[in-house]
Amino acid sequence: KITPNRPVIRQLDETAINRIAAGEVVERPSAAVKELVENSIDAGATRIEVVIADGGKTLIRVTDNGCGITADQLPLALSRHATSKIDGSDLLNIHSFGFRGEALPSLGAVGRLTITSRCGGEEASVIAVAGGRMEAVKPAALSEGTVVELKDLFYATPARLKFLRTDRAEAQAVTDTVKRLAMAEPFISFSLVDASGGNRREVFRADAEQGEMFDALNGRLATVLGRDFAENSIAIDAERDGFHLTGYAALPTYSRGSSAAQFLFVNGRPVKDKLLIGALRGAYMDFLSRDRHPAAALFVDCNPQLVDVNVHPAKSEVRFREPGLVRGLIVSGLRHALAGAGHRASSTVAA
Ligand code: ADP
Ligand code: MG
Repeated sequence: KITPNRPVIRQLDETAINRIAAGEVVERPSAAVKELVENSIDAGATRIEVVIADGGKTLIRVTDNGCGITADQLPLALSRHATSKIDGSDLLNIHSFGFRGEALPSLGAVGRLTITSRCGGEEASVIAVAGGRMEAVKPAALSEGTVVELKDLFYATPARLKFLRTDRAEAQAVTDTVKRLAMAEPFISFSLVDASGGNRREVFRADAEQGEMFDALNGRLATVLGRDFAENSIAIDAERDGFHLTGYAALPTYSRGSSAAQFLFVNGRPVKDKLLIGALRGAYMDFLSRDRHPAAALFVDCNPQLVDVNVHPAKSEVRFREPGLVRGLIVSGLRHALAGAGHRASSTVAA
């Protein structure tokens, strides 16, 4: 065989690498919102405000009152594989949402990104990056925390821009993402504002809950999912083999035509995991016809060493070391609770 030109192997440049990574980390505006809000949660914020315009396509701005980033660290925050969240190579002990150090450089490669931040008693500073080109850090005015602004997402990758859905559909996906994140963080205030066309409209709001975690979580779930869900669901609390299952499962009579009302969390991280979704379906098998979907908000908590969250760059899938145990816990925990509720319901009717 003839090789016309001898192939030359070259290292890709940083911008190309970041655009490739961005393809996996941020496929649409809601994914960018997820990364930014998770950063705010990791930064210890108690107040997070998200502003979007045109479904997040022209503007995403996340403001928090977290620990901030110092001026000298701002360029590092935009560098690939640079993170403050894990030490060395300990991928088995992840307690933060982030750990890959990929989100900010990826966003900077596919949009116009500006980070303004203030850390402790220091002066605030700002850094901008567009299409992968970083500017110098400059002084800025900000009272606390961090403001990350992402404009014109995917302007540098028009092929990707074409695959986005309508502003309305993208805005809906952003709302779902913020709600999911808010459900597991009852002590943080969340606000989502749609600023399309120059009008500010608050789409979602959840004020910080008070008290113990259990009550706070109940309060937050009622805020996010509505009274209807709260009144039609039963509390779940089951534990086995190092896995703890809590949350609410709706009565079969409150089932849905789609799986949109299934909210699953592993160690506080919202996931869309096949194993968990399958287990949920399995638990309701005797209670629901095939075309109906249970509504539930379920939290699985375990030692981080029992679950691998580094399966996909978007981190919405997980791998349990012993999937059978988790499945068993969900199926038996929910069946038990549902059967109990059935008894209660029928005895009420009888009485
Ligand atoms: P990761 O979250 O995986 O560490 P990111 O690219 O999302 O990677 O962020 C890089 C670093 O920038 C983080 O490790 C953190 O130190 C800093 N950072 C990002 N967002 C914020 C924020 N809102 N507040 C404080 N620090 C932040
Ligand atoms: Mg991050």
